[in-house]
Amino acid sequence: MSVKQKVSMVSLGCPKNLVDAEVMLGCLPSEEYEITTDEKEADIIIVNTCSFIREAKQESVDTILDLAERKHDARCTLLVVTGCLPQRYQEELGAELPEVDIFIGTGEYPRIAEILAEKRTTPGQLRYVGDPNFVFDPDLPRLNSSPSYTAYLKIAEGCSNRCSYCVIPTLRGDLRSRPFDQVLKEARELVAGGVKEINLIAQDITAYGRDLAESRTLEMLLAELVKIEGLQWLRLLYAYPDGITDELIRMIRDEEKICKYIDIPLQHISDPVLKKMGRRGGEIEIRRLIGRLRSAVPDLAIRTSLIVGFPGESDDDFQRLVQFVEEVRFDRLGVFCYSREEGTPAAEMDDQITERVKRLRYKKLMKVQARVSFKQNRRLIGTVEQVLVEGYSDETDLLLKGRSSRQAPDIDGLVYITAGTANVGDIVSVRVTDSSDYDVIGEIV
Ligand code: SF4
Repeated sequence: MSVKQKVSMVSLGCPKNLVDAEVMLGCLPSEEYEITTDEKEADIIIVNTCSFIREAKQESVDTILDLAERKHDARCTLLVVTGCLPQRYQEELGAELPEVDIFIGTGEYPRIAEILAEKRTTPGQLRYVGDPNFVFDPDLPRLNSSPSYTAYLKIAEGCSNRCSYCVIPTLRGDLRSRPFDQVLKEARELVAGGVKEINLIAQDITAYGRDLAESRTLEMLLAELVKIEGLQWLRLLYAYPDGITDELIRMIRDEEKICKYIDIPLQHISDPVLKKMGRRGGEIEIRRLIGRLRSAVPDLAIRTSLIVGFPGESDDDFQRLVQFVEEVRFDRLGVFCYSREEGTPAAEMDDQITERVKRLRYKKLMKVQARVSFKQNRRLIGTVEQVLVEGYSDETDLLLKGRSSRQAPDIDGLVYITAGTANVGDIVSVRVTDSSDYDVIGEIV
């Protein structure tokens, strides 16, 4: 009997990338490969990369170089780089990263086992980068690497919007919604396997179904998903603002399983900037949308992401953005400095903003948001939140930690529990007793 090869996966970037990594791991036959979380003992290390913005690319390259060292001082014999970075820079990477044995683009994930087998008899560096047309089929095995009670569910791949700063349509292709029944099948399987929380993801979840032959929408999908027995939380991530319908808002309000949470990347508020970004809708529509959401679902947690330093963003545009953040009081906010990505229309625009000004604007907006977030969290004191227990605090075993239904995994703050006991994966009622800028503290009631 041949010895199994140990494989370790490092997945960088967003949850959408993580799902791809999980598919690749699932596609490796267990008779030949064993998964390990310890890179030091891996024969094969796979780095699933992100190249969305400059910081992400830098992190990918640094991680590859760091892991390449393992080929000298540990047992790793094969370094494989997958995902967005090779998809985008297939020509340049081979020469710049000779330590890498195989490059695999975003369209070739299901072929991973076949490619690894091919490498055994093919010397030299190999590259498999084609059209970015992969769309996950639930009949492909997937190894859920998130804790057993939670999972991301990818409902579509690619994006047909054309925001002028964004390279994703080039890397991932146009929108390809997964067939309705396949998404439901995967959701049922996840719940049967113990998952209580499903986080729906896509580049834009509101676009779901627009490309399918039969009439299917996100709302239709949610109507079926909430019927799954055992599923407790359904969370909506990445919704394009103009795709949020009255029906969707009604479902968030009325369906108990749908978390009172939505992530709507707005990117900016100033009309001239939004126009240059190629975004649909302007300030009036955005403010109207926030008003509709808040009046229908007063306890809704709204997350957004904003870009500062987009070409041509004037002091006035930025001030408008600061004022907007102060007024709207987002519960969660991610701020990004504009990253000039070759191949995108925005990279060719005049009036690029200096890195120094971008950083200053970033810091200012984050400072404003820290104050907003602190105040939002103070308002929770005395309320009771449903909290999914995730384990012990990193600092002490005396403190449990978890997330409320209004906090998404990996990105939002946490709830620290100072009194009461529960098991990991339990959903319990917690009375909030204190708060900080981004986290809250409470007791099980
Ligand atoms: S909607 Fe999102 S993924 Fe699609 S082009 Fe715009 S920023 Fe990129």
